[in-house]
Amino acid sequence: KVFETSKSKFAQSRNYLAGGVASSLRASMKPVPLYAASGKGSHIRDVDGNEYVDYMLAYGPLILGHAHDGLTESILEAMRKGYTYGVQHQGEIELAQLLCEVLPCADKVSLSGSGTEAVMLALRLARAHTGRSKVIRFHGHYHGWSDAIFTSFPSADMKGHAANNDSAVSPGTNGQSANSLSDVILLPWNDKAALESTLRTRHFEIAAVITEPVMCNSGCILPEDGYLELIRDLTKELGIVMIMDEVITGFRLGIGGAQERFGITPDLVTVGKALGGGIAISAVGGREAIMKLVDDGVVSHLGTLNGNGVSTAAAIATIRELRKNNGAAFAHMEGLTGTLVEGIRSLFKQHEVPGIVNQIGPVFNVMFTEEAEVRDFAAYNRRDSAKYARFAELMLDEGVLVRPNGLWYMSTAHGEADIEKTLSAIDNVLLKLK
Ligand code: PMP
Repeated sequence: KVFETSKSKFAQSRNYLAGGVASSLRASMKPVPLYAASGKGSHIRDVDGNEYVDYMLAYGPLILGHAHDGLTESILEAMRKGYTYGVQHQGEIELAQLLCEVLPCADKVSLSGSGTEAVMLALRLARAHTGRSKVIRFHGHYHGWSDAIFTSFPSADMKGHAANNDSAVSPGTNGQSANSLSDVILLPWNDKAALESTLRTRHFEIAAVITEPVMCNSGCILPEDGYLELIRDLTKELGIVMIMDEVITGFRLGIGGAQERFGITPDLVTVGKALGGGIAISAVGGREAIMKLVDDGVVSHLGTLNGNGVSTAAAIATIRELRKNNGAAFAHMEGLTGTLVEGIRSLFKQHEVPGIVNQIGPVFNVMFTEEAEVRDFAAYNRRDSAKYARFAELMLDEGVLVRPNGLWYMSTAHGEADIEKTLSAIDNVLLKLK
């Protein structure tokens, strides 16, 4: 395939846009960060006229695919009335009520613009609620890029970030206030003993435990049996706030996210990405006793564009679409994902390529590794990330767009034909990789 127009646009962009991209992660795409011309359903087209089946899905938000007709209509309808008001409007009430209905832990919600902001509010609420300041977070999890939580994060598509396997908390970037991480306690995930001993000895200073329910940002690793239960039980016993960061799993593992799927109700949940179907919006949901702090003005929650009319309309439409026909959309996505994942595993066998696919619902991670299984962060870090990045690059030639770090998403817009095309693309690429 030819990428000349993308290449020249990237060169042009670098004259004006720092880094040439709008989010650091995007610069790593090989052979060049692609420029989109348009997207429809499961397909995206670049400025060179190449078309791809899209499993990157804008890093997660496009749960209904690109330019979904119903969602587009709802957004346009909202826009014609005015985009944002500063004063209150009906859309906020409707969305908040819907969120309280579908998110098990939410008695009330607050609305923001990004996952990073939702996490910022959740941490603030936890500190205000407990009067403590430390926060436990885990190796390999990602909770946005704010100073207070962004630690060094090994990712194949983020250059200059070394793997951090020890318990020292190091900043995720230059320019980050080192002191801002002095409240972060970094633990290995899925390690029951480490969690229990830390919580039992230090609970008096710990405000929150924040966790991805599935380690989607590093290998799509599932919680060990009883692990989320243990976090829930210990935090409850010790008066610590449990924050489930469902920015990836929310509206993806089911309408109620991972908390519904696993039957674990945290004190607070953060959602974003898929919530708006591609329009910027996020939310924090939680139990009354904690959300009351916002009600009472004890905790400030701010943002000029919070709850704007376009974002609330998009979120309402996305949730309604996902809830249609008893959640048939989830069965559809999971069915296709199952077929694709099984197909990838058998292609790995057929080509004698050592690799693993970790999956839950419509999200999965593909890795090249000699390990028999990848169930912790250390094993994930032993994968051949360079080989996978090469795989992702070769997939472009076959008309399939995937993230260079191994994480794939399925949307409701994907169909059998996409899966067939993708499996034959993988077949070709595995041959070339040898
Ligand atoms: N939490 C998790 C679990 C995420 O995966 C992400 C984004 N990848 C964030 C928070 C931050 O969200 P945003 O990029 O919208 O700020």
